Amino acid sequence: MTFSDLGLSPKVLSAVTDAGYTQPTPIQAGAIPHALLGKDILGIAQTGTGKTASFVLPMLTRLEKGRARARMPRTLILEPTRELAAQVEENFIRYGKNHKLNIALLIGGVSFDEQDKKLERGADVLIATPGRLLDHRERGKLLLNGVEILVIDEADRMLDMGFIPDIERICEMIPFTRQTLFFSATMPPEITKLTEKFLHAPVRVEVSKAASAATNIIQRLVKSGAKPWDKRETLRNLIKAEDADLKNAIIFCNRKVEVSELFRSLLKHDFDAGALHGDMDQRARMQMLANFRDGKLRYLVASDVAARGLDIPDVSHVFNYDVPIHAEDYVHRIGRTGRAGRSGKSFTITTRSDTKYVDAIERLIGTKIEWHDGDLSTVTESEGEEAPRRGRGAPRRAGRKDEDRKDRGERSKKDRHSKRDETPETVSDEQPVAEVADIAERRARKDAIRSENERKGPSNRHEQRGDARPQRDRPGRHRQEEDDATVGFGDDMPAFMRIVAKV
Ligand code: AMP
Repeated sequence: MTFSDLGLSPKVLSAVTDAGYTQPTPIQAGAIPHALLGKDILGIAQTGTGKTASFVLPMLTRLEKGRARARMPRTLILEPTRELAAQVEENFIRYGKNHKLNIALLIGGVSFDEQDKKLERGADVLIATPGRLLDHRERGKLLLNGVEILVIDEADRMLDMGFIPDIERICEMIPFTRQTLFFSATMPPEITKLTEKFLHAPVRVEVSKAASAATNIIQRLVKSGAKPWDKRETLRNLIKAEDADLKNAIIFCNRKVEVSELFRSLLKHDFDAGALHGDMDQRARMQMLANFRDGKLRYLVASDVAARGLDIPDVSHVFNYDVPIHAEDYVHRIGRTGRAGRSGKSFTITTRSDTKYVDAIERLIGTKIEWHDGDLSTVTESEGEEAPRRGRGAPRRAGRKDEDRKDRGERSKKDRHSKRDETPETVSDEQPVAEVADIAERRARKDAIRSENERKGPSNRHEQRGDARPQRDRPGRHRQEEDDATVGFGDDMPAFMRIVAKV
């Protein structure tokens, strides 16, 4: 089958040819003909399967008829994260190069004014994260009753981030006569319920078993002692051993604090590394990603914010520095490699206490993952145990002199903080310049938000935190980390804390 068999317009076909694609992927072949007929689609597909083009191409063809009106977008695409929204915009620009379409991107972390202007001009394509979209609507700058096509992408990720109530609200604002294209990598019951409520006789297109891992990825477990310096050493040795095949790698950690620690450690050991997590300023995130994509950085240490959906076509390796606690995250993480039919390798550093998580992953993917170099039975008892936090009463560790000292040096100040303090805000002289600048920028941004909130009063508070909605609206299934998660009480200080104590 070729693209010209699908019913796409000549303008779209020409852009697809220019992009160098000859054959539609299974999700494209399955979804595009139905989408062109105006049918609702339920697409069950992971990222990396060509799913973005499966909705962008038919939308472009259908948008050739008609014009946009001020503040009334013709189509709406909802994405869970800003990076994904920006990526979809890139797809519209690439495949829409023969069209004169107005595209508006509504994401948090950037000013409202530019976005307002684009809405005012009339958007053919509106790409948005749910929170920012609702903010614009509440400000009266946006009318959703002209939307003809609604795309809900990465629905299971929306669920994880607690966006489902927002999605329901938005669906209710759009005329029932719209066409809805709905995509999710997995179909948990909450998502099934949503599709039953908002899709009309959808055509179901499933390109691989839900939550299955791609077969062109070599997956290995790598035994390690549980102590952070053991894990870091295991990782460094792995990277060195893979050097000949390793073009670039994403290294996943479970928590932001580990992203920061590992990033600093890799820099100290002269690895060409960058970091990506949800606390970073939007511009810094985009810049970091662009550097990685362009090959200016070889290693990207990332939290799960980066795990889903990001299209970095040519990643040769994924390292799981931590075994993900939620098995589905494993599938998304390793899905960053082996994209668009290429082969890839993933290594998961595993300690004794990780075995229950590995079991859950193996149950989910329906296969055993091979050990790279022997299983955990060869890890000695003391290595297998989690190290006591260094502090009062804890014995100091002997041996591994220089290597350990390097790692100890970088940890010493932070270890005085609680392990739960995931967002270090103190600038220490041990931190690299980029990270210090990042922390300083975040601090400045928080200060600006605080004074802006004071100026504005209680309304519109969540808009200032990028796209994050107030926590009480977000009954997310789990949140290892969330984009722009509120720190502490955020702006919502309980009344009892405002009472002045009499002393
Ligand atoms: P997605 O699943 O949308 O994130 O797409 C994953 C990657 O596949 C992107 O780099 C696309 O540019 C690429 N891609 C999309 N469609 C095709 C196709 N028909 N043939 C080859 N690569 C494709």
